[in-house]
Amino acid sequence: MWNEASLQAYRAQLRGTLLKRGDPEFDQARKVYNAMIDKRPRLIARCADVADVIASVNFARENNLLLAVRGGGHNGGGLGVCDDGIVVDLAGMRGIRVDPKAHTVRVDGGCRWGDVDHATHAFGMATPAGIISTTGVGGLTLGGGIGHLSRRFGLTIDNLLAVDVVLADGRFVTASAKENDDLYWAVRGGGGNFGVVTSFEFRTHPLSTVVAGPTLWPLDRTEEVLKWYREFLPKAPPELNGFFAFLTVPPGPPFPEHLHLQKMCGVVWCYSGDPAQAEKALEPVRALSPALYGVGPMPYPMLQSAFDALYPPGHQWYWRADFVNELPDEAVALHAKFGARMPTMQSTMHLYPIDGAVHRVGRKDTPFSYRDAKWAAVIVGVDPDPANREQITSWCKDYWDALHPYSAGGAYVNFMMDEGQDRVQATYREHYQKLAAIKQKYDPGNLFRVNQNLKPAGAKA
Ligand SMILES: Cc1cc2nc3c(=O)[nH]c(=O)nc-3n(C[C@H](O)[C@H](O)[C@H](O)COP(=O)(O)OP(=O)(O)OC[C@H]3O[C@@H](n4cnc5c(N)ncnc54)[C@H](O)[C@@H]3O)c2cc1C
Repeated sequence: MWNEASLQAYRAQLRGTLLKRGDPEFDQARKVYNAMIDKRPRLIARCADVADVIASVNFARENNLLLAVRGGGHNGGGLGVCDDGIVVDLAGMRGIRVDPKAHTVRVDGGCRWGDVDHATHAFGMATPAGIISTTGVGGLTLGGGIGHLSRRFGLTIDNLLAVDVVLADGRFVTASAKENDDLYWAVRGGGGNFGVVTSFEFRTHPLSTVVAGPTLWPLDRTEEVLKWYREFLPKAPPELNGFFAFLTVPPGPPFPEHLHLQKMCGVVWCYSGDPAQAEKALEPVRALSPALYGVGPMPYPMLQSAFDALYPPGHQWYWRADFVNELPDEAVALHAKFGARMPTMQSTMHLYPIDGAVHRVGRKDTPFSYRDAKWAAVIVGVDPDPANREQITSWCKDYWDALHPYSAGGAYVNFMMDEGQDRVQATYREHYQKLAAIKQKYDPGNLFRVNQNLKPAGAKA
């Protein structure tokens, strides 16, 4: 544990704020998005710049403190906070610079995706992200990044050109295809294992208006719709993305009153090609006579924040996930069974397509080893009331247990809770050893271990 003099010396180095247990703001500052997580660090460093991050990493290492890095704080397992250690909170580092000539955007480590969409949209550009605008760029990118543009432009990591990283020994390095290429490979899926990323550089794509929104069907049509979806989407052009979902229709506009609070199945579409071609691409969807056809043109950032109000911070969340290659009839029947048992209004199951452009990147090119999988499935129990914690958790686990035998084996790291080393290894498969060797090179003492942890090669389990 630190002595008072070293703490004062550290505090004096910071431009940002250092919060200690007992400070009035501390309890609010330790909260993360998932209210099921209740961890109590000793210190929270609200970093203002890279120098603050370097000072914080050095202080943690020198004082043998557990260190958690917080980007957007969205991680389901609560990996943006820790017990008894220090949280390096990047939320104050949210600068962005778009380079419209080079078609790139530089994003500080604490940005949320809404910040990025806002900045790039002004230039008629976008880079692939997730589907909720309050999610952090940091965690989402370092784990892969799946969203409405995946089939067209690939995962977020497939558009990541360079990162600035503060390493465990306090050094600051840049990693790209030209320098520290082993680190550049590792951060494109290996999570926050290698250091604090203070800046991300992404490729951007011309994109302004998308034709997007949900189509919904009654639950008793689940098997018919899911069987149609599993055939239709893989053959659809990459401009068309659509994730399958179970949901309870929110009780308010834009949903018609007669559907309010009905449990339904649906697909959330995003056509990112020429808007004039969208109706043609979506003709087969209309032919399936949805109970609601809510698809229309909208600015891309509007789609990106469409679900924000449904999922504000502070709810209880429990997740389980798997990659999926095929959806045989038996799996479809199980989905129909558990979809009908959704325990609460916000609980859901999503099947995110990861074919199209995601499949065009080689399996060895990044640590994301499921380049051949067609979907990333995630089951999430969500509710504002802590009293429903057990109910949402057991539904989620039972659903996952039933479907797991039909999965590809591992899961997307960003959809995992604390599920142990076997699951981490199942996710990285043959890349695990290479990642462990790179971890040994850049973080041999495993300072960065509040994550889906990769043990440095040679370390004891
Ligand atoms: C409502 C919701 C919607 C989501 N939707 C999607 C989606 O559409 N697509 C998708 O791919 N994922 C999605 N996710 C999952 C999301 O990718 C993960 O939860 C991710 O970990 C969130 O990143 P964060 O920065 O907000 O999290 P945090 O909790 O801050 O951090 C998560 C992990 O990343 C590390 N980390 C974060 N920033 C940095 C950094 N700058 N440098 C080093 N390490 C860092 C942390 O140390 C921690 O281990 C969603 C999550 C939620 C809660």
